[in-house]
Amino acid sequence: MVTFLPVPIPSKIVCVGRNYADHAKELGNVLPTEPLLFLKPPSALIPHAAPIHLPAVSQHVEHEAELGVVLGKTLHQASEAEARAAILGITCVNDVTARDLQKRDGQWTRAKGFDTFCPVGPHMLLVDVTCDLDAFEILGRVNGALRQHGVVREMHFSIPRLLSYISSIMTLYPHDLVATGTPAGVGPLHAGDQVEVEIPGVGTLSNPVIHPPETSR
Ligand code: ZN
Repeated sequence: MVTFLPVPIPSKIVCVGRNYADHAKELGNVLPTEPLLFLKPPSALIPHAAPIHLPAVSQHVEHEAELGVVLGKTLHQASEAEARAAILGITCVNDVTARDLQKRDGQWTRAKGFDTFCPVGPHMLLVDVTCDLDAFEILGRVNGALRQHGVVREMHFSIPRLLSYISSIMTLYPHDLVATGTPAGVGPLHAGDQVEVEIPGVGTLSNPVIHPPETSR
């Protein structure tokens, strides 16, 4: 039986950089010897169909289509088997990134952390331990044109390895979200674009891209 639920609000969003060889290469990076982690703030979350706001301080915002893992149990210094058994569901994540600010800052908090920079959804597919995570595909499209296509089995670090590693640093709580990295094909977003992240069997997350509405100061 296939069960879909709304994506719960996480206490934190843990993201993984350079987890696909072809994506690391396209940005001129080598593959890390340990998972490369960063955080996105929960304030960046938006649901399916909500607009992504292009910040005025960036001239280069990109999409990153990713598979998101939602935790169902607390994980602290967990083995890979314990980590695998703690997965509640999977969903689509767009790790929207201001690429120019990422390069300029060194630290990625600003580039990855703007409001609206974490579209998630449209819902969560519940998975149990019999589900073959390695078979899931991740597709990224802009205005209907395919830009990204990856398969979980191509990941440099597997999902259980990532969760086990993260849990050796910070305790993961139920509903925490882990974005597992993006395959090759990242590219710029412009106002008026419609960007999609699809995981066949899970769903399609689609969001328009806009300049933020004028705010009175
Ligand atoms: Zn990413």
